[in-house]
Amino acid sequence: MAVPKRKTTPSKRNMRRSHDGLLSANSHECPNCGELKLAHHICLACGYYNKKEVVTKSNLESEEESNSDD
Ligand SMILES: [Zn+2]
Repeated sequence: MAVPKRKTTPSKRNMRRSHDGLLSANSHECPNCGELKLAHHICLACGYYNKKEVVTKSNLESEEESNSDD
């Protein structure tokens, strides 16, 4: 089995790990209600997407209930 000739220095190890950080979620403000939402997703607070009501509040709640059943 091939074995590294030298121990990885803390500098090289940290350079390798420089890309390992977590990225924060891409949140945008909802133009309808101002709540923070994910880009290209419906607003979970008001159910709007592209300035149109896609899912009504009662539908959102009933979907959450049906999801919790399974
Ligand atoms: Zn909204």
